[in-house]
Amino acid sequence: MRIDLHTHSVNSDGTDHPQELMVRAVAAGLDVVALTDHDTTSGWAGATAAVEELPMRLVRGAEITCSHRGVSVHLLAYLFDPASESLQTMMTRSRHSRDDRARTMVELLSRDMDVSWEDVRAVAEPGATIGRPHVADALVLRGIVPDRSAAFTELLHQDSPYYVPYWAPAAIEVIAAVVAAGGVPVLAHPLARARGEVLDLADFERLAESGLMGMEVDHREHTPAQRKLLTQWCTERGLLRTGSSDYHGAGKPNQLGENLTSEEVLNQIVACASQPVVGRG
Ligand code: AMP
Ligand code: ZN
Ligand code: FE
Ligand code: FE
Repeated sequence: MRIDLHTHSVNSDGTDHPQELMVRAVAAGLDVVALTDHDTTSGWAGATAAVEELPMRLVRGAEITCSHRGVSVHLLAYLFDPASESLQTMMTRSRHSRDDRARTMVELLSRDMDVSWEDVRAVAEPGATIGRPHVADALVLRGIVPDRSAAFTELLHQDSPYYVPYWAPAAIEVIAAVVAAGGVPVLAHPLARARGEVLDLADFERLAESGLMGMEVDHREHTPAQRKLLTQWCTERGLLRTGSSDYHGAGKPNQLGENLTSEEVLNQIVACASQPVVGRG
């Protein structure tokens, strides 16, 4: 079984519509795919409808931006009840803060180059969770940089004068809310240092005590040594070890299925969750 548990659609900062993403997942030879847009469940309906017609099973999820000790972390949440008021309230607040923050970043950039909020609106799907990748696409549209990667390296990285942070809920609160909503919380790319500061092992311990159920070990931004360390850490504590592509469509080099999760781990996720995997596949 080929199982990829981390992908993004145009409902956040990916470039495929949810339906299109499900078709591509079939073409990539996957049997199970998770849709995990940033801070939203708005892509669930389209993806669910698509897998009814495809040999594919869908794990509905989200990648929720959180903060722990001032460090920004991403939490993958699988198979939770989308009616959860606490989760939806936190994600709505994050999305509003992301919008304000992107406007501020564009305002700062526009003092030095020819880019405007209209350009961001032109590259983002209406209602999408706005992130730096959209600002990057606006800079590409304006011919200021050749691609998203260059935009990040040159202008949008965390130490850039144009970088602005945004509000995110506390990781411990999000973990509790995911569990209360019948979902399974897994820490995304825990050691991906290129994105900025990461948590240490004591922090991971604290999150595990708070209900964290797994770690995304196999991710392109982890070295073999980091994967080994995290695998051992998960094994010792009985946490689930996942692997995924973090596919964003044309915006990033990540390819569907480039890292995979075992069938055994998927079964454990399903056994812990209140919501079903959907699709006929
Ligand atoms: P934000 O949440 O708005 O701060 O943006 C972070 C998102 O940007 C991440 O979830 C990644 O999808 C994306 N990202 C981070 N670094 C890069 C990069 N070097 N190139 C392309 N996309 C990136
Ligand atoms: Zn993203
Ligand atoms: Fe992430
Ligand atoms: Fe992601």
